Order: sequence, then C-alpha cells, then structure tokens
Amino acid sequence: MNLEIREPDDMHVHLRDGAVLALVLGHTAARFRRAVVMPNLDPPLVTVSQVLTYRERIRSLATGRLDFEPWMTLYLHAQTTVTEIEAAAREPSLIGAKLYPQGVTTQSGSGIHDPLTLLPVYEAMAERDFPLLVHGEDPDPATDPFDREARFIDRTLAPLCRRLPRLRIVFEHITTAGAADFVRSESSRMAATITAHHLLYDRRALFHGGLHPHLFCWPLPKTTGDREALVRAATGGEPCFFLGTDSAPHPQNRKESDCCPAGVYSAHAALELYAEIFEEAGCLGRLEAFASENGARFYHRPLNPGRLVLRKVPWQVPESYPVAADYTLVPLRAGETLAWSVAGREAVQP
Ligand SMILES: [Zn+2]
Repeated sequence: MNLEIREPDDMHVHLRDGAVLALVLGHTAARFRRAVVMPNLDPPLVTVSQVLTYRERIRSLATGRLDFEPWMTLYLHAQTTVTEIEAAAREPSLIGAKLYPQGVTTQSGSGIHDPLTLLPVYEAMAERDFPLLVHGEDPDPATDPFDREARFIDRTLAPLCRRLPRLRIVFEHITTAGAADFVRSESSRMAATITAHHLLYDRRALFHGGLHPHLFCWPLPKTTGDREALVRAATGGEPCFFLGTDSAPHPQNRKESDCCPAGVYSAHAALELYAEIFEEAGCLGRLEAFASENGARFYHRPLNPGRLVLRKVPWQVPESYPVAADYTLVPLRAGETLAWSVAGREAVQP
C-alpha cells in the first residue's frame, strides 16, 4: 500500500549544532520540505544576526537537499528589545519568537522567569503579526511536574490571551486534553503542535518495567485519557492542530547517566510514526492536512508544491546512530520494526 501526500513540514524541531547537526538535518530534510528550527542552542540565539549565522550553517550542510528550507525562530530573553523584534519580523526566514519559561527544559536558563513581564515585546509582535511560540510549562519549582502545562495555561497563557487579543500563538507540543480544549477555545489566533511520542506513549510507558531515559522529555507524557484526546485532536481534521516532532537529540552517555536530560529523538522516523498513529485511528486520509497544510496555513506560508510517498514496507530502526567519538544517538523505537517507510521527497524546482 502507498500513501501519497503533499510534501510535509515539521513545525518544531531541534536540529542542534556541531557534530550532530549533519545527521539530524539529513533525517529531517529527507522527510520535510521545511522545518521550524528551535533557537535553544548553547548559547541561545537571542539576536537576528545569531539566528541568520546559524541558518547559514544549516544551509551549508543541507547539500543533498538544496530545496530544504529552515524557518528560524528568535529566543526571547529578559533583555529582548522591541527593536530586535522589528528586525526579526522584517526577515522572511524568521517565522516567530520562542518563549521558554526559565528552567523548564534544555537550554532554558536564559528564558523568562515571569513570562508576563515581556508585554511590550508581545505587543510589538502582535502589531507585526509575528507569532509567539511557547513552551507551555509553568517554571515554578513548587509546581508538580505533571501539572506544569495546566498551571501554565492558568497562570500565563490565559492572562496573556486576555491582554493581547491579536497576538497569534503556537502552543508547542501540547500533552493534555485541557491544552487541546484551550487551543480550540482560542483557535481564531492559536494553534498547537503535537509530537509523535506524545501520541504514542502515555506516562505509564516512561516507567514500564523500569525507567526509560530515551522516553524522558519535557513536557512529560500524561495520562492515557490525555493521550487519547491528543490522538483525537491530531486525527480529527481540525485546522488548529499540526505536526511538530520536537525531535531533540542528546548523546547516549548523557541520556543514560545519573541526571538524564530531556528530549526524544524521532527525526529518523518522524513521518513513519505519524502514519502509524493515523492508520491506527482509521484516519490516514487526514494525515496530509495535519502534516502538510494546517501549519503552513497558520504561518501564512504557501503550501508545498511537491509530493511525498509513504510505503507500507517494514524496516528496522538502528539500535543507534554514530555521530562522533563521544556521541552516539539512540533513536525512538531503537532496534524495532516500523510498518511504514518514506520513499523520499520528490523535489520540485521552484
Ligand atoms: Zn522543543
């Protein structure tokens, strides 16, 4: 069986930098025509010129896929100025600015302690229709880790929506039924990305038979009911939900250490995993809207002209990918067989 869809876009990915960038980029560009690239490098990309330099590094490595287009994001921090936002909004390859509440995930130490203090910056963004991308978790250490998303909606996102009715917002990698409903209630100006791993796994999987470091990510996977609600949101055809893998590699020796960093690597099989989810839900016909249309429409960008073919041909995911002498990458579903494979994108000359 074949499934042909319009070329898709990954609306949330961590390509990283250094030795791992080429591998991640290869996996992403083989499946996606465009990708929204996260700015949480070390140090984070807080100026337009830093973002554009990183974009050039990505472009110079994407030699096998010259049509791959990275859409860049600016990292918001306490000193972000309205002038920087104006410059970012003028740059066609920048698609929005990313809000990391301080301390909630990888490289968020320079994020915002109280996200509501940046109001003049958000106002400048609303004025220029420059979207705000949010990692939606409450940074208060007193908050229970499984309640961080719900608490973020109550303490930050809902008040922000009331203060700034015109600001367009992407609620990244949602994990709860409550977040999906909140996005629906604001869908005239808000959308959400949903990862493959949050559609496939609930929190039981994290602890099944022992602790699984390669499934550990922020935001944490939640209950079975939450996972089922996410599947309904992704596969239901609603335009306010779209594909964003949040694929986030870390070296095996750090993931399997006494303090495991957060992130699931899924770029090697992203589309194949989403196809599995949509097939299981009996909604394969809606994969194209979720993967290739809803995101581009939200960001007011043209749909891709090319096509991509998925085949029902099983393949085995490697146990790991070698990156460098001190960097081995363990992918999601390592060593397991996947039902769908990607025949590759068919490049269309612009
Ligand atoms: Zn992310």
